[in-house]
Amino acid sequence: GITLRNIKKSYPGGPQVLHGVSMDINSGEFIVIVGPSGCGKSTLLRLIAGLERCDEGDMEIWGRRANDLAPQDRDIAMIFQNYALYPHMTVRENIAFGLELRGMPKAERNARAEGVAKTLQLEAYLDRKPGALSGGQRQRVAMGRALARNSSIFLMDEPLSNLDNALRLAMRTEIKELHRQLGATVVYVTHDQTEALSLADRIAVMKDGNLLQFDTPEAIYDQPQNRFIAGFLGVPA
Ligand code: ATP
Ligand code: MG
Repeated sequence: GITLRNIKKSYPGGPQVLHGVSMDINSGEFIVIVGPSGCGKSTLLRLIAGLERCDEGDMEIWGRRANDLAPQDRDIAMIFQNYALYPHMTVRENIAFGLELRGMPKAERNARAEGVAKTLQLEAYLDRKPGALSGGQRQRVAMGRALARNSSIFLMDEPLSNLDNALRLAMRTEIKELHRQLGATVVYVTHDQTEALSLADRIAVMKDGNLLQFDTPEAIYDQPQNRFIAGFLGVPA
């Protein structure tokens, strides 16, 4: 799992963005982070991914101190909202992207990409380029790239926010199913309360750089710690 202890962060020249966040994320858990725009959700994910460094605090991943660990040594795959696919590459190449840097031979890379494409029902599109895919298919390619890395931790920053309602619902189900199949640890950021309540083993509610409540959807629904949380999640107070 992931352990965060009193994580503080400010960007150069800016105010403090995280004011000492602590959380324990267990192996295989699906954690959803919610909170108003600007409260520090993406910053927290980027810190876990190693794309930013914290100013203070301690971070452990799988029991290993991770503060100074390079992103590629963290066993983490990150999926962003604006899934950056390479337009000139095929789906196969997009999924396999990154494996080459690890020194994996081409035949093995392709086999891996094809296996992942099967899981995500993208087999028919392996030779297409992203421009010839729907939004949902592109989203799955981005997911495929993360899957191909065989990571044990997936960080997803509003991965479905560019999709229409029907697709978002379908992808939500797929993500849940994938999580079940892989047994991976997921930290997922969303603005969508329904998504949070339906996906999460535990929900982390953030506000202004602080973690306000971190508990199961049931517990938060039954006992929101304050009015802000009740209001934000649409729970009857
Ligand atoms: P949203 O829901 O809108 O995505 P968020 O909760 O993900 O918001 P962050 O992106 O973590 O919020 O930003 C937290 C604060 O840090 C904001 O005030 C933002 O302006 C600031 N911030 C984020 N990235 C940078 C950066 N690279 N440089 C300076 N300030 C930043
Ligand atoms: Mg964000």
